[in-house]
Amino acid sequence: MKVLVVGGGMAGLTYAIISARNGNQVVLCERNARVGKKISATGNGKCNIGNLHVNQSCYNASPIVQSVLQNVSVDEYLQFLSSCQILTYADETGRLYPLSDSASNVVDCLRHTANVAGVTTLCDTEVLAVEKQGQNFVVNLNGTKQTFQKVVLAMGSGSGAVAPKISNFVPQNYLTKIQPSLCPVKVVNMDKTLNGIRAKANVSLLQNGQVVATESGEVQFKDYGLSGICIFNLSAVIARTLVKQNNAQFSFKIDLVPSMTQGQLAKVLASRTGNQTSQIFYGILHNKLAESVVKSAKDCTAESLAFSAKNFTFTLQKLLDWSMSQVTCGGISASVVEPQNLTLPNGLVALGEMLDVDGKCGGFNLFFAGASAIHTFKKKQRQIAFGG
Ligand SMILES: Cc1cc2nc3c(=O)[nH]c(=O)nc-3n(C[C@H](O)[C@H](O)[C@H](O)COP(=O)(O)OP(=O)(O)OC[C@H]3O[C@@H](n4cnc5c(N)ncnc54)[C@H](O)[C@@H]3O)c2cc1C
Repeated sequence: MKVLVVGGGMAGLTYAIISARNGNQVVLCERNARVGKKISATGNGKCNIGNLHVNQSCYNASPIVQSVLQNVSVDEYLQFLSSCQILTYADETGRLYPLSDSASNVVDCLRHTANVAGVTTLCDTEVLAVEKQGQNFVVNLNGTKQTFQKVVLAMGSGSGAVAPKISNFVPQNYLTKIQPSLCPVKVVNMDKTLNGIRAKANVSLLQNGQVVATESGEVQFKDYGLSGICIFNLSAVIARTLVKQNNAQFSFKIDLVPSMTQGQLAKVLASRTGNQTSQIFYGILHNKLAESVVKSAKDCTAESLAFSAKNFTFTLQKLLDWSMSQVTCGGISASVVEPQNLTLPNGLVALGEMLDVDGKCGGFNLFFAGASAIHTFKKKQRQIAFGG
């Protein structure tokens, strides 16, 4: 069978390799000069390629996720990676990385494996449209019309990339609203003097005053707002709400002293009443944070200062932005995708991030991109491809 794969990211490369290993004639088109550009940027250059603890709660509630996770285990994904010479290790939290600790090395392995499997890779080749003719698809590739029996879309999203022209391939009613996700947030009341400070904190996300999610970890204060993995994970909760309800209001309540209760902190601060206010948080908070906490307190009593440090609050202005986001919330709607084989009503197959699936930080998005491609093959075809 002649197969066209549109997009050379994790999803497209995985699909192309397995398909070619099953004897298909595979052409993979990538609009960039090289495949795997986004993979190279992942995990701060180390590529957090998966996670031992993948489960549905790590994603939006999509029936596609359910179908893929029931069918593709982390073990099988690792077998696929190993068949591409990508060996991995897990850190203490279960995040998987390549032994090379190098995202560009992962791209090298996938590119090399695709070549060995016989995939024809055409870079600098943007597929602009696909025309259905009977059971086949006709595509204009660099000025020549070619016929394929199967076309697989693995075009990703506009997160950290130029937005792909998905509407050339699927009608508008296949698509949900989209929002950038796993991204920093711009807040309305930012104290710019905090730019560059990092603090370990518990963060609560409030929607209309009610706590809707909590995360712990390092908050990075920026001149525009907040960043850090815990903020990224909360941005996913915001994005999933905004695609359904674009007037929802959010704020962040940051507990800057999670190791003490408010009462304990108040007691410590009360014992320091001889100190000037600027010194009262010495040994507890970064000086600049302390100044800001003191400024936002109702008064200078130990109780008010402790409350302010445990309820340091910012109001969301907006999610920032496509270039700074790691993943897109929304995409091709689960309502038009056949969950068993990820086929659309127009006969095209869609994989990876272009689907309405988004995971939190921790390797879940690369896993989904690869697993969605593996999912479309029967067990026997996977055995042929990687002994799975
Ligand atoms: C900075 C950053 C860090 C990240 N870190 C992590 C991480 O550590 N762990 C994790 O799990 N996830 C991470 N992610 C998310 C993860 O990279 C993506 O979810 C995943 O790579 C998506 O894979 P994909 O194959 O679906 O799409 P993509 O990787 O986006 O690939 C799609 C490809 O299709 C090409 N294309 C689009 N349209 C066309 C066309 N018409 N013709 C030809 N080619 C086309 C694009 O150029 C692109 O190369 C990160 C993302 C970013 C931006």
